[in-house]
Amino acid sequence: MDSQIKQLHQQLVNKEISCTTLVQERLDLLKKNTYNSVNSLLEDTALALATKVDAKIANGEEIGLLEGIPFGIKDVYMVQGTYTTASSDLLKNYKSAYTATAIQKLLDAGAIPLVKENCDSFGHGSSSENTIFGAVKNAINPELVAGGSSGGSAVNVAKDYTVFSIGGDTGGSIRQPAGYNKIYGLKPTYGRISRYGIMAYASSTDCVGPLAKTIEDIRIVLNVMSGKDGKDQTTHTSSQINEEAIKTNNVKTVGYFKNFIDNDAIDPKIKADFLAAIEKIKATGIEVRELDFFKSDTLVSTYYTLAMAETASNLSRLDGTNYGNRIEGENLKDTYSITRSENFSEESKRRIVGGNQVLSQGFSDEIYLKGLALRDQISQNFEKDFEEVDLIISPVTPNSPPKIGDSLKDPLAMYLSDAYTVGFSLGQLPTLTVPQGTETGLQITAAKNQEQTILKFANFLKETI
Ligand code: GLN
Repeated sequence: MDSQIKQLHQQLVNKEISCTTLVQERLDLLKKNTYNSVNSLLEDTALALATKVDAKIANGEEIGLLEGIPFGIKDVYMVQGTYTTASSDLLKNYKSAYTATAIQKLLDAGAIPLVKENCDSFGHGSSSENTIFGAVKNAINPELVAGGSSGGSAVNVAKDYTVFSIGGDTGGSIRQPAGYNKIYGLKPTYGRISRYGIMAYASSTDCVGPLAKTIEDIRIVLNVMSGKDGKDQTTHTSSQINEEAIKTNNVKTVGYFKNFIDNDAIDPKIKADFLAAIEKIKATGIEVRELDFFKSDTLVSTYYTLAMAETASNLSRLDGTNYGNRIEGENLKDTYSITRSENFSEESKRRIVGGNQVLSQGFSDEIYLKGLALRDQISQNFEKDFEEVDLIISPVTPNSPPKIGDSLKDPLAMYLSDAYTVGFSLGQLPTLTVPQGTETGLQITAAKNQEQTILKFANFLKETI
């Protein structure tokens, strides 16, 4: 199966299915599902849009490739008039006043939004259990977590409830649930896709990206969403990746981080599978080099120091004044305090308290500035690596998905499950999860703006391992 989008497009054009039927079928599946992947359905909008697509086809008008294709949206994106809850009590009744740029581009291309998808509240988590809508269940084994924070998006794609979904990745939230549910998930280069209209978690690593079942669908959706946006000054222009350009591999040298693999924390099966994948790659004549990198503990601590600081700052606007469920206290200060204490989850509060500590006078030099300095060193390390190799590959996670309930009992263990994803976020590098190689997939990382090389290599790996 090369592209679900193209297949469905052809069926629509050939009048083998109507868009209304396609949309209604997927809505029914979403409604009936027992995976807790749905926060709210956009049923009326979706059906109204489908009717328009059907009318166009009936009139003999041409339709675009994405026109009539049903997709899902992580519930942290503004879509005007829809509930945008961030899976939180604080915003459970909040409706977006405007639409995120990336989503608007998909709407302009005619794609049909079906659902706002369950996720960890404000992106805080690696399991999609930190949500008021119930833990998202893994698509392959419902006793396990779906991964997070874009767990609902990964499950909807894996179960074919949506053709593709748009997740958000700050430290692994697209790549890790993609791996746990055996689909593709891309975190693009920071700034390739506008962040305007995504609820901010850690602004310096927040990325918008697609989850899908095929590499071609990732390419199509990436192209539509990319581009400079006057509303997000960190965006840049990028070239479109064309289909032919990713068909033949020209990657000659691949690297991997020795210390990710020679490590007690990695599951022996994931390690053995990863090394077997490396052997298969070598057997094709590609040179594989071992690279040195920072210890996982350093990566996780640096990421969480900065992510907590940024989220404490970003979420300070949520005090019940302009947004959210306000709970009145005896005075204004009391109102802020009760509103935030009652409406943020334990996990979000842990991060806000931690982040404010990191940023506070007397501590920020020791902690926050040190975090920033380490981040610079991590980026320099990557620059050096990409002088030597075309790509870096790594397992997505050191372990297989935990049982539902386990991560909530041990947040530190949950943070450590991000060991292999957060470094690439700090480096702002493009990284794709492919559902191959290990039980939770493989990550392919390139230098900034080299998404094309990644997709090329993903196509090659599909045939190779
Ligand atoms: N699991 C990581 C965290 O909790 C990443 C989450 C994300 O990318 N939104 O911070």
